[in-house]
Amino acid sequence: MTPRDLKNPAGFQPRTQRLQAGHDSDASQGFVNPPLVRGSTVLFPDTGTMRRRAQKFTYGLRGTPTLAALEEAIDVWEGSHGTVLVPSGLAAVSLPLLAFLGSGDHCLVVDSVYGPTRLFCDTMLKRMGVETEYFDPAIGAGLRDLMRPNTRVVFLEAPGSNTFEMLDVAEAAGIARAGGAVSMLDNTWATPLHFRPLEHGVDLSIHALTKYPGGHSDLLMGSVSATRETFARLRDAQMQLGINVSAEDAYLVFRGLKTMDLRIAAHETAALSLALWLETRPEVARVLHPALPSFPGHGLWKRQFSGSTGLFSFVLNGGGRAEASAFLDALEIFGLGYSWGGFESLALEVDLSDRRVATAPTEGPVIRLQIGLEDVADLQADLEAGFAAIHALR
Ligand SMILES: *Cc1c(COP(=O)(O)O)cnc(C)c1O
Repeated sequence: MTPRDLKNPAGFQPRTQRLQAGHDSDASQGFVNPPLVRGSTVLFPDTGTMRRRAQKFTYGLRGTPTLAALEEAIDVWEGSHGTVLVPSGLAAVSLPLLAFLGSGDHCLVVDSVYGPTRLFCDTMLKRMGVETEYFDPAIGAGLRDLMRPNTRVVFLEAPGSNTFEMLDVAEAAGIARAGGAVSMLDNTWATPLHFRPLEHGVDLSIHALTKYPGGHSDLLMGSVSATRETFARLRDAQMQLGINVSAEDAYLVFRGLKTMDLRIAAHETAALSLALWLETRPEVARVLHPALPSFPGHGLWKRQFSGSTGLFSFVLNGGGRAEASAFLDALEIFGLGYSWGGFESLALEVDLSDRRVATAPTEGPVIRLQIGLEDVADLQADLEAGFAAIHALR
């Protein structure tokens, strides 16, 4: 069977569709991957075509075959009408906020949001005359009471950054829509493998492609995937700001997507087994992982998400900065560093001092773990060494 015979995604399972998405091998001499096209200028055959911009590619900033392949692949993953690519996950947060907010507008943001998102709202948006109000992820239907006539954006993240609070996404998106606001959701944790926000009424799904889609800690990129109604405004904002991504990086993310479900399955299994083990440890007060039945948001998670990934946190049972440092400095396999979603395990102490409405755990320091693809027994032994270092302090 040639690749062309397979080009009928309609009847195929999602995994098959995703593997075929974004590239037509017939258009590149049979090669199964898209060409890596670098370029600014694109030539037109005649002035009429140029005036009407009547060809798929018109200028490098507006897109290339490599970037289009990745955008189309993400659209298949997300079930979106269109996707734009930006140079980082943070830019995937700031671009849609800039696209849909202006002076005098009100923006509602979940309080468990990614820290740099909050910083963007509190600095750049504030200077532009946008008022940001933070709401408790547990607010539920109470979100309706915070809506104002000038509320233009409701910004969600589920689960919340570092502490994994869950919310009812369809309920929040519905309240936003009823009030005439656009809803956006930072979907980086779940990836479209386990959650497709647009199917829950969200208008824009945001990703740090830096994490699982890239998957190898060797690039930065972000994406925003939109509904038919919101896409044009998003694309216009991207072009007005003049931002896009490099062909090489886009190619790497395209490649990463091919194996993302398999990698996430391995991250998920290892993370769950370590999370369950951590729950049995006397040094641990609580494990913050939405897939654990003990987690307060577990029911909400289970109803909306099809699985979990490799990032979760736990709260130390007492202690402070010294205990957290002793634990982290004793780890040999877990690296001490920002970001996550790569092949390697990472750990850090989470700073929750920016929380205003949502309550941060108080039993002890919060440690976030990214469970990589190493052997689980080795990872568990590493964490045991961390706990031993805490005991050595006392
Ligand atoms: C990492 C992350 C981002 C930012 O991604 P970068 O590519 O590092 O800028 C945004 N949102 C969430 C939830 C993240 O975890």
